[in-house]
Amino acid sequence: MRRLALVVCVLLVPQAAWAWPTWLNFGIQPKATTPRDQPPRLDFGDKAKAGDCALTFDDGPGPHTGALLDVLAGRHIKATFFVLGQHARRYPDLIRRMVADGHEVENHSWDHPDMRKLDEAARKKEIEDTLAELRSLGAAPRYFRPPYGAYDPALLELAHKDGLELVLWSRDSEDWKYHTISAIEGNILPAGQGAQGIFLFHDIHDSTITAMGGVLDELGARGCRFVTVGEFREKNPAAESRKQGQVPAVPPIPLVAFQ
Ligand SMILES: [Zn+2]
Repeated sequence: MRRLALVVCVLLVPQAAWAWPTWLNFGIQPKATTPRDQPPRLDFGDKAKAGDCALTFDDGPGPHTGALLDVLAGRHIKATFFVLGQHARRYPDLIRRMVADGHEVENHSWDHPDMRKLDEAARKKEIEDTLAELRSLGAAPRYFRPPYGAYDPALLELAHKDGLELVLWSRDSEDWKYHTISAIEGNILPAGQGAQGIFLFHDIHDSTITAMGGVLDELGARGCRFVTVGEFREKNPAAESRKQGQVPAVPPIPLVAFQ
């Protein structure tokens, strides 16, 4: 029996919203104020080298992920998958194939909670149960993407203790809402903006996989060279912090149904 879980999956982080610690707080004031307590910076999206385009796919694997892997393999493109532990357990062969195909398989929690609402023990369980599951399937995660992009300084520290760096995204395809090649491509590469960044998709949507061939054609035509998050991170060290006070508005949180 298919289980319906309502998840808040795609919290828009504006292109401009890329610097810790002053304004990626989603309304929560950071506790860290001293240099010693400063968490790692996440602001490497908007100052990336032109052409560096990292494809990321969240919330899977799912029934459509195999078809996506076929599309990527046909184009010799490596991507980064932020998977849920419970879905990795359900589709272990897809995780193994991701690893075999050269993709990066990363941690997106066990069952997609808002990590800010969990105590430390529950946070640790979400991260470490997923880590153990992925490692048992041959993956070697280096990154953690908190569901909804929701985190606080303590979560950064906890993930770091497990050897994981937090990674969000710089451009959101909004593929839970838009299902055409032009709309998805337009969200990823808005007119007048460069072809670079960490792009957010979800491989749980059939429409995303159907559109992906065309989207990749368009991104290629705009100058994208496809890299994994690890490659992106190596080529694009953290940029300078932004000025104080640039706190982005928190957009309405959409509800997305997945299996
Ligand atoms: Zn998600």
